[in-house]
Amino acid sequence: MSKCIVIGGGAAGMLEAYSAAMHGHQVILLEKNEKLGKKVYITGKGRCNVTNACDVEDLFKNIISNPKFMYSSIYSFDNQAVVDLLAEYGCATKVERGDRVFPVSDRSSDVIFALTRALKDKGVDIRLHTEVAEICVEAEQDACKDAVSDRDSGGMHRVTGVKTRKGEVIKADAVIVCTGGISYPSTGSTGDGYRFAEEAGMAVIEPKPALVPLECKEEWCEELMGLSLRNVQVTILDGKKKVFQEFGEMLFTHFGVTGPLILSASSHYVKKYYGKELPLYIDLKPALTAEQLDKRVLRDFEENINKQFKNAVNGLFPGKLVPVMVALSGIDPDKKVNEISKEERQQFVHLIKNLPLTITGTRSFVEAIITQGGVKVKDVNPSTMESKTVKGLYFAGEVLDVDAVTGGFNLQVAWSTGYLAGMSVE
Ligand code: FAD
Repeated sequence: MSKCIVIGGGAAGMLEAYSAAMHGHQVILLEKNEKLGKKVYITGKGRCNVTNACDVEDLFKNIISNPKFMYSSIYSFDNQAVVDLLAEYGCATKVERGDRVFPVSDRSSDVIFALTRALKDKGVDIRLHTEVAEICVEAEQDACKDAVSDRDSGGMHRVTGVKTRKGEVIKADAVIVCTGGISYPSTGSTGDGYRFAEEAGMAVIEPKPALVPLECKEEWCEELMGLSLRNVQVTILDGKKKVFQEFGEMLFTHFGVTGPLILSASSHYVKKYYGKELPLYIDLKPALTAEQLDKRVLRDFEENINKQFKNAVNGLFPGKLVPVMVALSGIDPDKKVNEISKEERQQFVHLIKNLPLTITGTRSFVEAIITQGGVKVKDVNPSTMESKTVKGLYFAGEVLDVDAVTGGFNLQVAWSTGYLAGMSVE
């Protein structure tokens, strides 16, 4: 039996502590907040989309960064295992649209209660208000030296415990870093794990905000603030290359765009184009071809033959969008509909199918659902989650350079990597 310390009582940390304790280890869970699962509490708008009930193979397709790294962990603890564990500890789940799994109660707190029950059941020693400041690493004969100088001394290293912010040294055979990313820092994830990894001689891929609203150049976004569009198609292009294209729901804000479709788009944008300007097009009528839409516009024009253009397109868009579309069309708003040329009409149709925006960047980590980047997966053994540089040091959850789209996949990454790290402790 090993003594192990889990740093961070979020999704990955709770699962890790449960798994390690279930596999016979003595586990101390250290959480700097006053309670466990502060981020889990706000997930899924307070309902917690715990996982996705898709085929296991499809879980990988929804992971944006390093899906292959996730093979062992997902097969060790898949989406059904999450559902079973929650049910065992009193939290029944249900499947909703898009195979999203939620607690039947629609309360994220029930997920946290269930996991806390599981931790207590397995005898995990939970210590709240305990912030880890440093990971102790033994190099050669030194007992508890700080990791930076250990790394500098070269040779093989082994973890010996942690030092808390209050200066207490807690010895352990294994330390598992589950400190999360750096997004929504108010929940406690302030990027400490990146420092721990670097001090252990591991590389960290630059953390970037992902699943995050996008800022756009066009000032007219502000005029549309609060307008939600359903069943639109968003396309992001790099030249002719499609960076992203999907249907869904989006929302205009004073700085640009957000909503489920945009959050998903952002992760693809951030992956390769973070901070770069890229065009984003909204197809406002994706169910119609350009020809079908042209017929529809023509019909509307015929019904409003004596009206001015600005008063003839109300049937096509929500009220807030009408003046913007009229202004962007280049057609004189006061022109009578019967004076509009076929060419002008077709340009208008093109605009409806390709409403152009220019992405200039993302909102900050404060508004990002997830952090892209993190501990480089090449420095972590995918079969155990153990560091390749320091024996007995493990990483799980969002601290790793693994991120997924919305739909329960990010929590699945945390549960799976946490579970695998726990069962791998020697
Ligand atoms: P976290 O849950 O962030 O936990 C890290 C823990 O470590 C924190 O409790 C922190 O206080 C603690 N900690 C950090 N440093 C230290 C230290 N030095 N010492 C001690 N403790 C420390 N994903 C989904 O799959 N479904 C959803 O519905 C969903 N909704 C979301 C909604 C929002 C608003 C946000 C922000 C995220 C959402 N996510 C969702 C993403 C998901 O919450 C995260 O991917 C997941 O919580 C990551 O788990 P983690 O354990 O790695 O990190």
